Amino acid sequence: MASDRRGNPEHRGRVTVSECPVHRGEQCAPRHRVTTWPVDGGRVKDRCTCTCGRRFPVTADGAAEHLVDPIDPGGAVEVPPGRGATWTMAADLPPDAGSPIASPGVVPVETPVLHVATEPVGAVTREIKALVKHMVRVMHRAPGVGLAANQVGVGLRLFVQVHKGAAPEAMVDPEIRASDGTWTYTEGCLSLVLDDAHAPVDRPRRVQVRARTVHGEVVEVTADGILARILQHEIDHLDGIEYVQRLVGEHHDRVYGLMADAGLDVDCVPPTPY
Ligand SMILES: [Zn+2]
Ligand SMILES: [Zn+2]
Repeated sequence: MASDRRGNPEHRGRVTVSECPVHRGEQCAPRHRVTTWPVDGGRVKDRCTCTCGRRFPVTADGAAEHLVDPIDPGGAVEVPPGRGATWTMAADLPPDAGSPIASPGVVPVETPVLHVATEPVGAVTREIKALVKHMVRVMHRAPGVGLAANQVGVGLRLFVQVHKGAAPEAMVDPEIRASDGTWTYTEGCLSLVLDDAHAPVDRPRRVQVRARTVHGEVVEVTADGILARILQHEIDHLDGIEYVQRLVGEHHDRVYGLMADAGLDVDCVPPTPY
């Protein structure tokens, strides 16, 4: 996407636009939307990402729709209680040892922390920021497109994702507020690296997620397509759900057969279709 900027010199330096500056609406459509409330209650930022990848400030007629009206935190952002305030890396970050069925630094299916709901983070401390850095490194090394904290052995509610131009790289205490549509897309997981374990999963096509950034801002992200898919896969992890639990029919039978052949206890991933 960086090459777009160089290829469109007439738009260089433009800071205030109300629609996509690349194609001006011919082939472009607003796709993702991020509303950000600053910590101190200052001006709310509202931006869209176009189908072409460019971001632009939202106006009423150029905006991707919120699925439900955003909750305005109003004034200073409140930080809920959570374990983040006292959590330390030394406490439960596992060694970087690999597992034959997981990416390096990632815990495999059957690890208890993957199969229970994670705890709220609350305050984002230096230690939490260090955890985020570690997770980003592990994600890129895999390489993967998203990674939940419990996949690195830490039972806290936060994840990282690669589309940081469209949504925050790290989302803390995320919750899905609304979803719509259905889309089938093939998923895999860094905690289950078995040949042929990728399989199509039906999920909502769009989601609206509320979370905090590592800087303490509240964000509401309305995401479509692959970004929406990543957010849902990672939030499922934070709820203790592995993508295989969403599989149905022949895909369920095939992947559960592969897991059983690999010696995994499939009772830890009970089917949980929508
Ligand atoms: Zn565009
Ligand atoms: Zn996963």
